Amino acid sequence: MAGNLLDYDLEGLAAFCDSLGEKRFRAVQLYRWMHQKGQADFELMSDLAKSLRGKLAGVAEVRSLPLISEHVSADGTTKWLFDVGAGNAVETVFIPETDRGTLCVSSQAGCAVGCRFCSTGHQGFSRNLSTGEIVAQLWFAEHRMRQTLNLKEGERAIDNVVMMGMGEPLQNYAALLPALRTMLDDHAYGLSRRRVTVSTSGVVPMIDRLREDCPVALAVSLHAPNDALRDNLVPLNRKYPIAELLDACSRYLQSAPRDFITFEYCMLDGVNDTPELAHELVRLVKHRISCKINLIPFNPFPASGLLRSSRERVQAFAQVLQAAGIVTTVRKTRGDDIDAACGQLAGEVQDRTNARVRLAQQREMQRAVIPIVVNGIRA
Ligand code: SAH
Ligand code: SF4
Repeated sequence: MAGNLLDYDLEGLAAFCDSLGEKRFRAVQLYRWMHQKGQADFELMSDLAKSLRGKLAGVAEVRSLPLISEHVSADGTTKWLFDVGAGNAVETVFIPETDRGTLCVSSQAGCAVGCRFCSTGHQGFSRNLSTGEIVAQLWFAEHRMRQTLNLKEGERAIDNVVMMGMGEPLQNYAALLPALRTMLDDHAYGLSRRRVTVSTSGVVPMIDRLREDCPVALAVSLHAPNDALRDNLVPLNRKYPIAELLDACSRYLQSAPRDFITFEYCMLDGVNDTPELAHELVRLVKHRISCKINLIPFNPFPASGLLRSSRERVQAFAQVLQAAGIVTTVRKTRGDDIDAACGQLAGEVQDRTNARVRLAQQREMQRAVIPIVVNGIRA
């Protein structure tokens, strides 16, 4: 199969062009045609030397992901399901805002972290996406939305990318890094570092790598203020407990494009949403790390056995944090009529490995060992 040019950041593309005996400026031209104009046909890249077009034919292509379906929600949120082969699919979500829009991008088919409240986690892990498959989501969505929104030449549809789709981006670091570089490159999407966010469940060594290689905005999925509870909700916490995670966040802030870390906190009824836990969260982060807290109302799915916290519960929790001077937001749920909200990205991964059954068994065992008990009620 011909190589996919979406796999390359500009340096990679320059090296590829060099291997064909072509100068760097040709790589820049090619990169701009692909990403800025959305052109996939070399013959239509009019100012690209004929000789280069000839060399590219047969050895390279601009390969997007095969589209399975497109759903548009009443609020304009658009969800695409892409085929990534072997019965696996991933989802990408465009969320329109008053001005431009945000794209929620997937990094893996399934996820190995296995958080209790996440439907992707419940599927188990299928495979890492390649750089080209991560970039293809932005490539496709940007050019599709320019058409849909009838934008003029040079106007952009997407000005914000969040790696909050399916998968743990920092467990697919090698593919993620060139993809981030293409998002940021002025010859491609030219997004601001502050408007590209990597969301992680807390892969500590990779937070450090990201800080060195490509510091973009960081969101950390915290979900609990102590290790006992977090161990149960986010199994990766057993490897990288909260203290280590917060230290990595502090180090990250030295290079980060924003002067705070966003902590995501999924509100689970009777599990992590009590005022006591809100106070514990204040004690954990206050005077220790500059942060904002984003409370996410849980999007329920039957296999989780969990429920969404009531609006009052979420408000009360937010008030404790706000009263302590911590900037706190409650995430608006968008696109839930098309199952495009956080954690609902199931992607119809075919379960070849019986991961679902295995995971359910594992979880039963974990629950038996570390029951979550809040106010005497077992979750
Ligand atoms: N793996 C990364 C990024 C993908 S998940 C991470 O965990 O950060 C993106 C966000 O959606 C995370 O904050 C995650 O905790 C949250 N999330 C997962 N399942 C959810 C659900 N069912 N309801 C609400 N938020 C959920
Ligand atoms: Fe994976 Fe993130 Fe879902 Fe946890 S919340 S299972 S890390 S995708």
